[in-house]
Amino acid sequence: MTPRLHAHARVDLSAIRDNVAALRSRTGAAEVMAVVKADGYGHGLLPSARAALAGGATWLGTALLEEALALRAAGLTGPRVLAWLMGPGERLADALAADVDLSANASWLLEEIADAARRHGRPARVHLKVDTGLARAGATPEDWPQVVEDAAKLQAEGLLRVVGVWSHLAYADAPGHATIARQARVFAQALEVAAAAGLRPEVRHLANSAATLTAPQQHFDLVRPGLAVYGLSPVPELASPAELGLRPAMTLAASLVLVKRVPAGSGVSYGHVYTTEAETTLGLVPLGYADGVPRAAGNVGPVLAAGRRRTVAGRVCMDQLVLDLGDDAAAVGDEVLLFGPGDRGEPTAQDWAEATGTISYEIVTRLGPRVPRVYTGDGA
Ligand SMILES: *Cc1c(COP(=O)(O)O)cnc(C)c1O
Repeated sequence: MTPRLHAHARVDLSAIRDNVAALRSRTGAAEVMAVVKADGYGHGLLPSARAALAGGATWLGTALLEEALALRAAGLTGPRVLAWLMGPGERLADALAADVDLSANASWLLEEIADAARRHGRPARVHLKVDTGLARAGATPEDWPQVVEDAAKLQAEGLLRVVGVWSHLAYADAPGHATIARQARVFAQALEVAAAAGLRPEVRHLANSAATLTAPQQHFDLVRPGLAVYGLSPVPELASPAELGLRPAMTLAASLVLVKRVPAGSGVSYGHVYTTEAETTLGLVPLGYADGVPRAAGNVGPVLAAGRRRTVAGRVCMDQLVLDLGDDAAAVGDEVLLFGPGDRGEPTAQDWAEATGTISYEIVTRLGPRVPRVYTGDGA
């Protein structure tokens, strides 16, 4: 498909670089793993990764092994890369060949990793993940001693090296929440169990963006910011990106593809859930829910168009949405901004999140492949 003309997401790579540098300046001795899963939170895997490295990240983090392998295949061989969401039958030999660190949270997975190492003739680098209270991807404290024992045995056989011990917080976006200290205590106990088994991980890591920015005592040896890399606030009720020294990297822009006058009382878009109050100008924006604009934005999604903030008129359709531009001057081809850093008066991804009952993470990651990413800034 040739790139589409009338809608795109501009991604400011200098902003990503500078955001990482800002994070790096707050982490002291702890290194920064820029999390680039989900296509760099929708910003593009490789450009985001390169910009993050330019900003001082020394590690890259992905959920999927395929994402980590794509980084290596593109020639990013310098940084450490960790992939953490594994099921049975993954391409573990490819991971070893590509020098990708692997997270492990269960004995069966350690066995699969060891098998790959046996076949590959080279030890795997493994980060053992403990569930300290999120109840998601880590080994429970009950299962942890067995996971540690199995890992220590495989390490002694030369099949793997436990280079990391790690966990993830449930409530990092609520600084001071009691679960943070509780999870940190469980983490400390898990580290003791690992030490008692003779494991000497190079890196212990716990902090996502919110903890990187608000909980320096949880930085350990490595922090794993994702959202903040892209300049969005992980604690929007407490601080804006600017207050955190961050700049949103993505601007979602489109051009009007039809402008027309309609009479008062015109029902607009499916179901006529919006009706014009007076004779007015409607502008057609060629972005819809198939592009990742939430359908929940009907009548509430904010857009900067014809010099002012508007609200999506009526339902968001699969490929298009309508704006009521009143009597303001507008022409086909005029640019409209759905969200961006906010300095031209445009809404932000956070505004979209609030309007549609979600989080900014979802607003940027849900943008689909039909929306071309256009790169600006250093490295574009
Ligand atoms: C996505 C993810 C991160 C990054 O989280 P942010 O809130 O975007 O900073 C860090 N660690 C793990 C395990 C993750 O899944």
